[in-house]
Amino acid sequence: MAGYDLHTHSTYSDGVTTIEENVAAAAALGLEGIGITDHDTTAPFAVARAAAAAAGIEAVLGTEFSAEEAGISVHVLGYWVDPAHPPLAEELDRLRDERTDRARRIVARFQALGIPVSFDRVVALAGAAPIGRPHVAAAVVELGAAADLREVFDRYLADGGPAYVEKHAVAPERAVELLVAAGGVAVLAHPGLYGDRSGASGLPVAVVERMVAAGLAGIEAHHPDHTEEQRQHFAAVAAELDLVVTAGSDHHGRGAEDRLGRATTAREQVEALRGWRVD
Ligand code: AMP
Ligand code: ZN
Ligand code: FE
Ligand code: FE
Repeated sequence: MAGYDLHTHSTYSDGVTTIEENVAAAAALGLEGIGITDHDTTAPFAVARAAAAAAGIEAVLGTEFSAEEAGISVHVLGYWVDPAHPPLAEELDRLRDERTDRARRIVARFQALGIPVSFDRVVALAGAAPIGRPHVAAAVVELGAAADLREVFDRYLADGGPAYVEKHAVAPERAVELLVAAGGVAVLAHPGLYGDRSGASGLPVAVVERMVAAGLAGIEAHHPDHTEEQRQHFAAVAAELDLVVTAGSDHHGRGAEDRLGRATTAREQVEALRGWRVD
């Protein structure tokens, strides 16, 4: 299998496999490279660089950066960012604090629903990672209040669910600006998964156009949770706007279906993305 899986998670955020395991899995599949895209952190860069060098593949170092549009979370993948760039580093710190406060409020909602999740347990499960809903969900499963993560999301934690709390973040075009200013290349993640997931289009094209004005380079039209219709729609939007079309597995290491490498980006597209670097 050639190409790059440009969207993966590890224990540095809400994935359950380590960076070393992900890089080894990518190499074992014969991939040319792997995108390192943990949520709101650049902490795995050094470990990923070393693991990729040892495995003889390329690590495309990045982050899946949280933004917000009309109360809905929008994710922007930022590749090759300088982790020390102050405005980006400051917003990542703020997002981490925001995630901790939000987890406390989500835990309070579960408690009000009669599910006695412990905030300390959630913090322990997250370890050094920015706290995400999957960490809270794992604590709920541990309590026996649901069979698995999927059930916790379906019953309580999905966007708009009874235990859902918004994560306040910058606007999508501001996210692009921050990533580009940090020397990165910005790609809109899974545009079909925002708002009403039943629609063919997902994120309104007007929002994508604002992001383009801020320097957006690509659209992740191919995501395992996109329908064929959504893939075609967003590939057409990308073509119309002269953007690179990317693909990634969004691997979190949860179960048989969640396989690293199940969506890959050809090297030509990765080179096209690289061409968007300004530094
Ligand atoms: P957060 O960043 O805390 O809002 O959590 C977002 C993460 O939760 C995503 O990256 C997914 O891993 C997971 N997630 C979000 N919505 C769902 C859902 N409906 N079902 C399962 N997992 C989800
Ligand atoms: Zn995640
Ligand atoms: Fe995402
Ligand atoms: Fe992701």
